[in-house]
Amino acid sequence: MLLSRYLARLGYGSRKQVDILIRQHRVTTRDGVALRDGECPPHDTLAVDGEPLDPPEGAVVLLHKPLGYVCSTNDRPPIVYELLPSRFLSRSPVMATVGRLDADTSGLLLLTDDGALNHRITSPRTHVPKTYRVTLAESLHGDEAAQFASGTLMLKGEDAPLRPATLFVHDARTVDLSLVEGRYHQVRRMFAATGNHVVTLQRIALGSLTLEGLAEGEWRVLSAAEVETLR
Ligand code: URA
Repeated sequence: MLLSRYLARLGYGSRKQVDILIRQHRVTTRDGVALRDGECPPHDTLAVDGEPLDPPEGAVVLLHKPLGYVCSTNDRPPIVYELLPSRFLSRSPVMATVGRLDADTSGLLLLTDDGALNHRITSPRTHVPKTYRVTLAESLHGDEAAQFASGTLMLKGEDAPLRPATLFVHDARTVDLSLVEGRYHQVRRMFAATGNHVVTLQRIALGSLTLEGLAEGEWRVLSAAEVETLR
């Protein structure tokens, strides 16, 4: 693929805008040698304005989403894309969130431009568990773990029962809940179904991935081995 086409696909501008970047010698090797358009050199050897390129096509990004940020682009800001390179939304294909977290949920959010992988991770058939740390307004009654594990719990307005979910109790008002599906406001609605109310909600893990090493608002690119664990 041509260098100019590659950079345009990564959102660095239209083909015309990228041509200008190249003519202005702003596209270089990592050690600063200006490049002409032609067959694209390996991704990791390139820089624009002295900065390494954004993650390559097919990358999966793990973001520690802070409270208050929305996952949708046509909602009221702040949106999660403000925490990421501005080019993520002009890439082709776009870097999409893998499922969504509510604005008032923090924690682990993946983004990828690999549509098939995105679909696979969110499909309940793939069984990638999503684990949430939940604090509750009221103490547990004691039968929640059994209800959630039963595979018979029905949420209001739905016609299929929830798949079995696992509850780990830290104390009467702090639990971890692992789900393999992702219905609308699922965790909040599950506790509402038991007569309780969720006060804080954080996604702490997706499969074996965690937030370790990432402060709120920080992100990193998953290694190939980490992506394999999601397949
Ligand atoms: N369940 C919810 O209720 N909200 C989320 O953001 C994620 C799971």
